[in-house]
Amino acid sequence: MHETVATVVENRDLGSGVHLLRLRNREVCAEQRAGRFVMLGVGETVEGNPPAPMLRRPFSIQRVEGDVFDVLYRVVGVGTTCMAAMKRGRVVEVLGPLGNAFTPPAPGEQAILLGGGVGIPPMVAMADALSANNADWKAFLGVSSTADAGCFVGFDDRPSWDSRVHRATMDGSLGFHGHVVQAWLADREANPSVTKKRVYACGPMVMLRAVAKVAASLNIPAEVSVETMMGCGIGICMGCVIENKRFTEGSVEDRSTMSPYDRWLMACTKGPVFDAQGIVLDDGGLLH
Ligand SMILES: Cc1cc2nc3c(=O)[nH]c(=O)nc-3n(C[C@H](O)[C@H](O)[C@H](O)COP(=O)(O)OP(=O)(O)OC[C@H]3O[C@@H](n4cnc5c(N)ncnc54)[C@H](O)[C@@H]3O)c2cc1C
Repeated sequence: MHETVATVVENRDLGSGVHLLRLRNREVCAEQRAGRFVMLGVGETVEGNPPAPMLRRPFSIQRVEGDVFDVLYRVVGVGTTCMAAMKRGRVVEVLGPLGNAFTPPAPGEQAILLGGGVGIPPMVAMADALSANNADWKAFLGVSSTADAGCFVGFDDRPSWDSRVHRATMDGSLGFHGHVVQAWLADREANPSVTKKRVYACGPMVMLRAVAKVAASLNIPAEVSVETMMGCGIGICMGCVIENKRFTEGSVEDRSTMSPYDRWLMACTKGPVFDAQGIVLDDGGLLH
C-alpha cells in the first residue's frame, strides 16, 4: 500500500454520469490484484457545488496497463462531481492498492463473473487476470438501460472476449432483458455443463443478495465485493462495516471463540471481497 500521487492521463465522459479515469502511478500498478481498490483525493471544489470533501473516496481498480490504472466511476455526489472536472495532467492523491483480492478459481473450475453497473470494474480486473492465466470464464454484466452502457467499457475494449460476455439491461434496451442473475440462470439452462463453477460478483446489494441465494441453492462457492460507505480505507473510522454471519447465525461454539467486535467486519481491511455466505448482505436501506 502506498500513500502517493498519480497523474491524470484521461478522464473520459461515457455518458449518464459515468466516467473512465486513467491514472499514472507505477507503484500502485505493481501491487494491484483483482478485487483491490484505491482511495482517491477528489480535487478541487466545482463552482456552484458544496466544498470538495476532505476525505478521499474509494474506487475499484478496473484495469492496469503498464504504469496506468483505470477507475470507472459514476457521479453521485460532491466528491465524484469534483472528480468529473479533473483534467489531463492533474495530480491526484492516492492511497492504495487497498483491501484483499478475489480467490483464483481452482484448476478445472469455470469462473462466473457477475457485475452490475459501477460494480463491473472488479469483474474487468478479474477477466484480465483469468485471461492472462488461460483460465475458463464467462461474464454476465447488467445495467439499467442502454444509456448506462458506458459501464461495459472494460469489456467493450476487448472484442476478442465477446463469446464469453453476456450483457443485460433491466429495460431490455440492450442484450438480455432482466438482471444479471437471471441472465446467468438463463444461460445455464440453455448451455448445461458439468464443469465446476466459482462465482465472483460486485454490484448493488440487492444483486449481491440474489447472487448469494442462488449460489447457495446451487452449492457453488461465491465471493462478493461489497461497496459500503467508506471514510478512511485503512480501518480507523469503522464506517464500512458489514455484519459477520458467523457471529449472528453461528453456533454457540463458533461464538465462544469470538469477541463482540467480531460481529462487524470492516470492508476496507477484511474485504472488500467476502465469502457470499459469510456476511449479512443487508443494506439497511442505505446502499444503492
Ligand atoms: C471498495 C469500494 C469500491 C468502490 N468502487 C467504485 C467504483 O469502481 N465505481 C464507482 O462509481 N463507485 C465505487 N464505489 C462507491 C464510491 O466510492 C461512491 O460512489 C463515492 O464515494 C461517492 O462519493 P461522492 O462524494 O460523490 O458522494 P457523496 O456526496 O458522499 O454521497 C452522494 C450520495 O451517494 C451515496 N453514496 C456514497 N457512497 C456510497 C456507496 N459506497 N454506496 C452507495 N451509495 C453511496 C450517499 O449516500 C449519497 O446519497 C466503491 C466503494 C467502495 C467501498
